[in-house]
Amino acid sequence: MTSAAPFPSEAPVYCDVSLPVPLDTAFTYRLPETLRRRVQPGCRVLVPFGNRKLTGVVLTTHSRPPNVPAKDALRLLDEEPALDETLLNLGRWISNYYCAPLGETLRAMTPLASDVRHGKVYSLTPSGRDTARQLHLASTDQEDPAAAILRMLDGRSLSASYLKQKMTNSTAVLKSLEKKGFVQSEDVAAERDPLRASAARLRVEFIERGTEKLPKQERELLAYLELHPGQHNVATLEDTISKASVAARALARRKLARLALESVSNRSAPGRAPHTLNPHQQAAYDAIHAGLASRQFQAFLLEGVTGSGKTEIYLNAIEAALSLGRGALLLVPEIALTPAVAGQFHHRFGEKVAILHSAFQDAERAQEWRRIRAGQASVVVATRSGVFAPVQNLGLIIVDEEHDQSYKQQETPRYHGRDVAVVRARDENAVIVLGSATPSLESRYNAERGKYTRLELPARIEQRPMPAVTIIDMRHEFLESRKQATFSRALLDAVTERLENGEQTMLLMNRRGFSNIVACRACGERLQCVNCSVTLTYHRRDRRMLCHYCNYATAVPDKCPQCASEYLQFIGVGSERVEQELGAAFPRARIARLDRDTVSGKHDYETILSGFREQRFDILVGTQMIAKGHDIPNVTLVGIVNADVGLGLPDFRAAERTFQLLTQAAGRAGRGTTPGIVLIQTINPDHYAIQCAAEQDYEKFYRKEIEFRRALHYPPFGAMASIVVRSANEEDALARSAALGRLLSPAPEGVRVMGPAPAPVLRVKSEYRYQVLLKTSSRKRLSEMLGDVRRFAAAEKWGPANLAIDVDPMTLL
Ligand code: ADP
Ligand code: ZN
Ligand code: ZN
Repeated sequence: MTSAAPFPSEAPVYCDVSLPVPLDTAFTYRLPETLRRRVQPGCRVLVPFGNRKLTGVVLTTHSRPPNVPAKDALRLLDEEPALDETLLNLGRWISNYYCAPLGETLRAMTPLASDVRHGKVYSLTPSGRDTARQLHLASTDQEDPAAAILRMLDGRSLSASYLKQKMTNSTAVLKSLEKKGFVQSEDVAAERDPLRASAARLRVEFIERGTEKLPKQERELLAYLELHPGQHNVATLEDTISKASVAARALARRKLARLALESVSNRSAPGRAPHTLNPHQQAAYDAIHAGLASRQFQAFLLEGVTGSGKTEIYLNAIEAALSLGRGALLLVPEIALTPAVAGQFHHRFGEKVAILHSAFQDAERAQEWRRIRAGQASVVVATRSGVFAPVQNLGLIIVDEEHDQSYKQQETPRYHGRDVAVVRARDENAVIVLGSATPSLESRYNAERGKYTRLELPARIEQRPMPAVTIIDMRHEFLESRKQATFSRALLDAVTERLENGEQTMLLMNRRGFSNIVACRACGERLQCVNCSVTLTYHRRDRRMLCHYCNYATAVPDKCPQCASEYLQFIGVGSERVEQELGAAFPRARIARLDRDTVSGKHDYETILSGFREQRFDILVGTQMIAKGHDIPNVTLVGIVNADVGLGLPDFRAAERTFQLLTQAAGRAGRGTTPGIVLIQTINPDHYAIQCAAEQDYEKFYRKEIEFRRALHYPPFGAMASIVVRSANEEDALARSAALGRLLSPAPEGVRVMGPAPAPVLRVKSEYRYQVLLKTSSRKRLSEMLGDVRRFAAAEKWGPANLAIDVDPMTLL
């Protein structure tokens, strides 16, 4: 015998598992006999941990007995690795770069629902194993299905449903192999129950009338289904038939109707033929295409003004990737992923598209994820965590609106989806395209330094003009009108004109609620949250005061809690108040509002937006949600009710964020054939962020802002991390932060340590927060220092809640 036996007869006895606990070590478990041939690195397993059961990711399998007796792993949750080698390595990179425990990182990278579909599991019998070995020696090009299955099963067990995915006639083949004694099967558990899926993902179909007497709702639904043959989406039926989803499930249990899970991709897509690219689009596309063809890593920054047709380039680039036999991943901001966006992709790529959205339920996400891993879906449209989608042979990643803050995860692991996407593209020899009208300073600077190739779309499609922007100085407005009004006269006139012409208006008020400050006229007291050092916001519809940090709610007091005076004043203005005052000014206008209070699920969001798109509303009021990518041709007026919200925040990105928000909002105007105008109301008319946004001059803003960052050593110059020390007890928080301050001083050469100091919002959710900021030109040094901090916290037995490290923080509040 030769020593190069391809299949070791000894299966590994142990596996090292990374668990979602705040410890950086892996834990060793013994594999029970039944799991030895099935577990591979990257698979999830259920293991005992203390008196709990945890799901972890297998890092390695081996047969080295550990020093202490190992407990048995309980259950295997993946037939095939949930994370392949590249993704496991990406996880290690994230854990290292963002100072996050590996186990928690890997958990964030995998879908929540486990993916073993229970049912029959097949494995080889000893004679089947012998046959499989012989097949390996005599490999032929054209293999018969039985041989293929024997090969697949060599060294592991696989579920019937998995084999069926790989081979359509697997059931029959398995049956005959079982008869011949080559394979054996084992029943594991029941099939996943489609009754538990959400209504939006269920289709229902008539089977028979039956003989039993049915409750009214079921009877009605069954009658409807009988009259309307074919499959119906259960959520849609709800519009016509009340309680349709409850009734549909009941009918399915009675076997009078059939329920089926709908693939997300089946949803109707508004059809539109591809546009012929204009010369700018074509040039950008050609560059991306050349990058794809080279099969080397290359990063592009696609800088295109609002309405320049970036989506069309994405669609074409994805097509190019597919025709080169590679998969593509498009990341979009959380809120921008609407059925309208998804529809464009379905229309172009059909069943090849998978959608991953955090609003979907676990089961739906797990299903899409499986289609991706099986290679059935090669185009993935996803929000942040979709950067970990197991796209096969990934050739292209696109990050749309790459400047958007929602790409940064605000809890451990605090990764930036865009930056992780760049690293992943590099590891996969893929092309990455970062698209935006208002690129982040980081990305634009990377382009300047030659790390990214810059592609420009300087004009809107079909020579449509950029909207004309006017700044309205609200201080003058006050002096002239002698009224402290929410709307200037110019804005009211412009809205009137739109209403008369049947054109639509968008009004941005980037703060929700009715009034964000409620103060006492007698003593000056402002109503504050009991858990956080912020003011409470008055929500009129709910008749309560709400904290936007911790959701603490309380009744609206009729007296000042401090001095018992009855003169409480509602000072600030939020989107709810804008809607209300607008209704008073234009009683006949049809007004809708889009913010987190009117949107609780993905359906609300789409209902409001599509209602506006279909011109069932004249005016849409909203927070930054209305500024994200929407392409609604009949909007010819955008009003920024208060451009100053956010400008004064103690955060070095305040100007950048204001510029981006205003420019993006302005970019919603005049996208159709009628030109649009924008009115910006502000008391800071000379601020460069507002000026540049009014001129829609990204380059000018970038030049100014980059000098400011350079002078103050802020990103993109060097690296930055924020360390927040937290404790429910103020003295404890202070003491810990002081200890941290001593650890970090004197600061090593080339590192600036700012603080410890109270965080801008000192108290959040009943915890006091002290902050240290680190700035340095050396990433290496930064990571060493953060390593010291983590070791220090571990040695001092700090709890995971006491310390929050944020590398490349997007907000300092
Ligand atoms: P951006 O994302 O750059 O703001 P979009 O991709 O939303 O712009 O495109 C704006 C509009 O222009 C869309 O309605 C799109 O269908 C249309 N469009 C894009 N490219 C072309 C083209 N080459 N010819 C005509 N219309 C186009
Ligand atoms: Zn008072
Ligand atoms: Zn609070």
